[in-house]
Amino acid sequence: MKCDDPTSGIEWVRYHPRMPSSPITTITFDAGNTLLYCDPTPAEIYSELLSRHGRSVTADEVEPVFAGAWSDLQEQTPPGIDRYNSRPGGEKEWWGAFLREVLARLDHGASWRPLIDELYAAFSNPSVWQVYPDTRATLESVRDLGLQMAVISNWDRRLPDILHGLDLTGWFQAITVSAIEGIEKPAAGIFHRTLERLGVGPEETLHVGDSPLEDYEGSKAAGMNPLLIDRAGNFAGNGYRRISSLGEVLDLLS
Ligand SMILES: [Mg+2]
Repeated sequence: MKCDDPTSGIEWVRYHPRMPSSPITTITFDAGNTLLYCDPTPAEIYSELLSRHGRSVTADEVEPVFAGAWSDLQEQTPPGIDRYNSRPGGEKEWWGAFLREVLARLDHGASWRPLIDELYAAFSNPSVWQVYPDTRATLESVRDLGLQMAVISNWDRRLPDILHGLDLTGWFQAITVSAIEGIEKPAAGIFHRTLERLGVGPEETLHVGDSPLEDYEGSKAAGMNPLLIDRAGNFAGNGYRRISSLGEVLDLLS
């Protein structure tokens, strides 16, 4: 087992000396920044669009504003509550509120209504979503080991079509999307609902995701085996079971 290799980047052994007592039969994956990522970045997409509709803004200007607006809107719904159904107009209204917040923080004069349809279409297009280089090979190897796989994601209703457009759907026995379920990670319910569909118990399941709260703490509280994917090394020394690339999942199964 490569866990003994100090160069492997896996801290499983250091923090958790033993593998789970039950064999892992199932792996569930977060989607965003775990299996796929946005390129061009959201800030680049916003800056290009805003610049076409008014004052020119750079992605560097948009980036901190985007992060701040995201954080503020996220705080308006408590953890576990489905943000995308928290407004009467559903997820598009949530994104409209987000856009208005971005425009206000940038003091940008563009009108939000014409922009929201264009933005919604831009992020619906699978071409802005890139699959990490190690994703497909890892999924293939996990499947070859005979394990089940599922996606559990805090995403709006567009995720299934995006996964389909990226030809990722076929790997998974279940795809659980918060906006469709009406519940978000870290709530245990979204994990348990997925496991019921798969017919497995939490103790035989590994959940891999990039969010310490939504993925790691959420799946751990649901009784699953959590694993943090920390590609940038942001969470070293925090006691998480971490991997730095998706392929390292296989080292934990062998
Ligand atoms: Mg994520």
